[in-house]
Parts: sequence; C-alpha cells; structure tokens
Amino acid sequence: MTDKAWYNLTEQQWEAICNHCGRCCLLTLEDEETGELYHTDIACRYYDEKNCRCSVYEKRFERQPECLKITKDNVDKLPWMPKMCAYRKLFDRNYRPQKFTKLTGKIISQTQVKKSDWEKHIVEENNL
Ligand code: SF4
Repeated sequence: MTDKAWYNLTEQQWEAICNHCGRCCLLTLEDEETGELYHTDIACRYYDEKNCRCSVYEKRFERQPECLKITKDNVDKLPWMPKMCAYRKLFDRNYRPQKFTKLTGKIISQTQVKKSDWEKHIVEENNL
C-alpha cells in the first residue's frame, strides 16, 4: 500500500484490517513524568478472552469512555499501538508481520486487579 493509500478504504475494508490479536484491549500505563509507556497483561473489563473479542463492541465507547477508536486520522499518531497490530503496517516502515498467539490464559481482567496493583502487571510486549 502506498503512503496514506488507506484513506481510500471503505469503512468495511478498514474494519477488516484488524486481525483481532486483542493487544489494544490491554491496558497501557504511562509514566506521568517521563511519558514512557508500559504494556500490561491486564485486559479491559469488556474483553472476551474466550472469543478474543470486545464483548460490547458496538457500545464500547459508552461502556468504556477510555476506549479509543482507531481511525484513518489517528492510526499513525498512537505511540502505544501494539507491535502486532495489523494497522501498524499502514504507517510503520519497519513493520514486519508477526505471528501472534492468542492471549487466552496469559492475561487477567481489569475486574480482578486493584488499580494500585497495575504496575505489578507490566510485561514485555513480546512476551504476550
Ligand atoms: S491491536 Fe490492532 S489488530 Fe490487534 S485487535 Fe487491536 S486494532 Fe485489531
């Protein structure tokens, strides 16, 4: 795909790019002082681990106000985008498609971790 050719994709084609790796449904922590980002193994409360899908996809922005829609306008401006995210290939010249494994059994729901313990769940992205 040439630079920014994705602007010509239909909404349906755009949605179809997602490979449902689920990585964007994991919490990312940001150091308020340095801006450094840290990936965690904590999944959004609405992540359906069994089916590797958001369980409230159509209503996700109502249910989870922090959820962010990945669009043609912001896709190249999200520093936390997981390395395995299929949308990265649109703008990341170093992107190499990676085989991803399902998150099943490797993550924990947000409902099961106290906020004060989130830092204990920081993980290397490649280890998920
Ligand atoms: S990280 Fe990207 S490819 Fe994976 S589920 Fe989220 S949007 Fe889809």
